Amino acid sequence: MALITCNECGRQISDRASSCPGCGAPVAGNAPVQQLIDAGTAKTAVTGLAAWLVAPWIGRALFAIAALIFLGYLLTSGR
Ligand SMILES: [Zn+2]
Repeated sequence: MALITCNECGRQISDRASSCPGCGAPVAGNAPVQQLIDAGTAKTAVTGLAAWLVAPWIGRALFAIAALIFLGYLLTSGR
């Protein structure tokens, strides 16, 4: 582990750090590409999971509302 100089603030930081702990600038040659990929994958997974979880609920809710309206219409018009 060696120390390198941050391009942004000049602080001595580890060359294994993906970003400067002082200013947060990404370390040259050690850009957190894997972190970006992981973040993008996680975001896609979370979005897909959320859509997968929410969509059926929306469908059920819409169906329930439509059914209630239809039932109410039947009950009120039947009298
Ligand atoms: Zn810095």
